[in-house]
Amino acid sequence: NVDRSLLIQLTRYGIDQYLVVTRDVTQVERLETTRKDFVANVSHELRTPLTVLSGFLETLHDIPREEISDEQRMHYLDLMMQQASRMQAIVADLLTLSTLESSPTQAGEPVHMKEVIDRALEQAKLLSAGQHVFVENIADNLYIKGIETELASAVSNLLTNAIRYTPKDGTITTSWYLTESGQACYSVQDTGIGIAAQDIPRLTERFYRVDRGRSRATGGTGLGLAITKHVAMRHNAELHIQSRVGAGSIFSLEFAASRVVTPPSP
Ligand code: ADP
Repeated sequence: NVDRSLLIQLTRYGIDQYLVVTRDVTQVERLETTRKDFVANVSHELRTPLTVLSGFLETLHDIPREEISDEQRMHYLDLMMQQASRMQAIVADLLTLSTLESSPTQAGEPVHMKEVIDRALEQAKLLSAGQHVFVENIADNLYIKGIETELASAVSNLLTNAIRYTPKDGTITTSWYLTESGQACYSVQDTGIGIAAQDIPRLTERFYRVDRGRSRATGGTGLGLAITKHVAMRHNAELHIQSRVGAGSIFSLEFAASRVVTPPSP
């Protein structure tokens, strides 16, 4: 796409030989836009709790001692603590994500997934508010070669999401098994709110949420599935999502047969 008028001018000045250098900047521009969007998103996500936090701080600072009861003061402090933990959770997830993106993939060690899943289940049950959590089938001798902390965060993200997006009395069923083709599959099924088809491909984008208010209210950072997707990629696994609005969702991690290892000998 060389500008024709430039060529005519060059010819007019007696320059009839020229070298045209073009560079496709589409990719560079796209990366730059993604980077700018990300910085804007992070700032926005942190600004909200920070605004609330400084609002309460100001109130506590300005209000005369005799005009506020101990109970009210405690109430404000609780709200401030909630905002502070929200910011901590966002920063912790951002650090995890950036470590995953910048560190080279390691082969890792055989990981006893049953232990990882059991631990995640215990944590998830503490979070549940009336949802029933069932274990369908958890294979004991099915190990994955990988990094235990990363696998634990992927498993726990899927479980906590299932609880977060399933109303009281709903059910969550989890399983870990070897498929017929030799892959290992971890799946979490819920009878929750479900996800519309057009949202599914965007769920692993950082800070993408179907319902911002609900995610915030339940303590989500909007980064859990982005982290899970990265962990999956680093372990030759695929993250599959099936869902129907109002009926529920199935999130599964399918590990390539090459990652499946036999238990280490004692
Ligand atoms: P969050 O911290 O907001 O849960 P995630 O990255 O873990 O962030 O998930 C992104 C979004 O995907 C959530 O905000 C929610 O809208 C949707 N989502 C994730 N898991 C489920 C689920 N089990 N059921 C319904 N929606 C889900």
